[in-house]
Amino acid sequence: HRRKQPLSAELGKEVVFADDDNVVGEKAKAAAASMNEGDVLLLQNTRYRAEETKNGENFSKELASLADIYVNDAFGTSHRAHSSTVGVASFVPETAVGYLMEKEIEYLGNAVDSPKRPFAAILGGAKVSDKISVINNLLDKVDIILIGGGMAYTFLAAKGYSVGNSLLEEDKIGYAREMMEKADEKGVKFLIPVDSVIAAEFKNDTEFKTAASDAIPEGWQGLDIGSETIRLFEDALKGCKTVVWNGPMGVFEMENFAKGTYAIAKTLSELDAVTIIGGGDSAAAVNKLGFGDKMSHISTGGGASLEFLEGKELPGVAAIQSRN
Ligand code: ADP
Ligand code: MG
Repeated sequence: HRRKQPLSAELGKEVVFADDDNVVGEKAKAAAASMNEGDVLLLQNTRYRAEETKNGENFSKELASLADIYVNDAFGTSHRAHSSTVGVASFVPETAVGYLMEKEIEYLGNAVDSPKRPFAAILGGAKVSDKISVINNLLDKVDIILIGGGMAYTFLAAKGYSVGNSLLEEDKIGYAREMMEKADEKGVKFLIPVDSVIAAEFKNDTEFKTAASDAIPEGWQGLDIGSETIRLFEDALKGCKTVVWNGPMGVFEMENFAKGTYAIAKTLSELDAVTIIGGGDSAAAVNKLGFGDKMSHISTGGGASLEFLEGKELPGVAAIQSRN
């Protein structure tokens, strides 16, 4: 099975695909054995083997048996302990991280461990519950936290405001209050929206208007940060030297509610700072709005970058670092 594929075009050489549903079965072993110096062999998707996601030792050894050196460049899967991301590393003589992985670790790692200050984190997206550990960990590192997106309404509720039909996680109101208290104790500037673009329904073509945070009427839902909040956030970001952004400021997928996310992306693009975007939807938003190449780093790992920002050790990274 020799086919011209995108990988061949990128590498400028033929890539042999070992079309072997066993991943490391007879076909793959034969193909590996007949390789010459400089040849490239692509194995079948490792998830064809049930042991992959269980980090099965036998499968890890089989993978390792094909190679002298293991290089992992898949940052986006490094938060999972699988055979191909973790297990294999202990059975290959030499291991290394690839260039992309190196860049991810360099940017995310430096931002979190030795940031140039002032250091700001912008957090948004749909749910507080997705970002609890991120907020908690970053509160120990940053000078400023800005909260937007759907998660902001749980913080507004914690302040005692009614939020209408906006996204609200009632069981996280206590946590939101705790985070604001922790910020106070630590002297971290913690800003939540002072106004929102509120809509009659969750769709682009519906009635919408701006309302102050203490005046969201019953039946309406906040789908974006308002213009006063944009100004407040822009002011807070001025002069910052490191900014980590995770989670859109509003429902950016709908044109009428993309303004807040656009404004923040534009502000970051003009800052003289290290700007890091983590999170799948945030990366998509920044790219869609045309600011992708203006950021210092856009993480390729949604879940992996979140876990990094939570302060967790990534098993795929640790497996290699513990060997070197
Ligand atoms: P990321 O993937 O960058 O970590 P999330 O998955 O946490 O981000 O959140 C992204 C989603 O949050 C987007 O689909 C966006 O539409 C949604 N969102 C943002 N603001 C709101 C809001 N005010 N109400 C409802 N959904 C929102
Ligand atoms: Mg997401």
